[in-house]
Amino acid sequence: FLKGKSAIVTGSTSGIGLAIARALAAEGASVMLNGFGEADTIEQARAEIEATSGARALHDAADMTKPDEIVAMVARCHDELGGPDVLVNNAGIQYVAPVHDFPVEKWDAILAINLSSAFHAMRAAVPLMREKGWGRIITTASAHSLVASPNKAAYVAAKHGVAGLTKAVALENATHGITVNCISPGYVWTPLVESQIPDTMKARGLTREQVMNDVLLAAQPTKELVTPEQVAAFALFLCRDEAKAITGANLSADGGWTAA
Ligand code: NAD
Repeated sequence: FLKGKSAIVTGSTSGIGLAIARALAAEGASVMLNGFGEADTIEQARAEIEATSGARALHDAADMTKPDEIVAMVARCHDELGGPDVLVNNAGIQYVAPVHDFPVEKWDAILAINLSSAFHAMRAAVPLMREKGWGRIITTASAHSLVASPNKAAYVAAKHGVAGLTKAVALENATHGITVNCISPGYVWTPLVESQIPDTMKARGLTREQVMNDVLLAAQPTKELVTPEQVAAFALFLCRDEAKAITGANLSADGGWTAA
């Protein structure tokens, strides 16, 4: 149902973003991948998307800490793929430490990648969506856009920030055929979660098993991690015409975490 449309998915060389890009392409959207990684691995993912979907896939290496590179990526999508009709603000990083030990450069990087990059991308993409009178903006927020955990000051601040940003941009564009929402997953098994386990072990003095059971799964009443494919299916639904009434929403997919 997305044939003839194009999508930018930031942070889509891995994890949730890659799953969303695959799902959009499977419905016919041409996709602009973005993110870091080994050139060979990225090329493999790009080529695999083209081969399995028949849709075009490009990769743009824009660094989400650099506003001019974000603007250039949106312009490149417009020139080479049309649109963007769908913008998924997904790039994100994590750092785990108590506020009094939190490195200033980590605070700056998390705010830039997890919050400001969404502003810069939307600022560039919204006029192009308004021209067409149709657009879908989806931001991967987090359960941490609604509740906090210790040792994640920057992440929690940035994720609460994108939830507010989503509401404001949704209201501005409500009569332009553009919906703006965020999806707030609980713990999803991706490199982002895997790599914070050693830091959480250190910060809280726990074993690996204790972090898995007492920190990650303890937060989720379902006692199951969320999968990238579940988040992707949710994002895909928001792109449907049937989802046009859903805007300005912060939609949880967190195994019941924030209900508790
Ligand atoms: P991931 O580490 O698998 O992927 C992150 C992606 O962002 C990668 O493609 C990486 O290259 C890219 N990236 C990082 N810094 C970048 C930069 N400066 N410029 C461009 N790209 C950059 O992580 P993930 O778990 O798939 O996370 C994706 C999003 O989902 C993030 O916003 C994260 O906060 C959010 N999220 C994740 C979880 C979880 O449990 N994994 C839960 C809730 C929300």
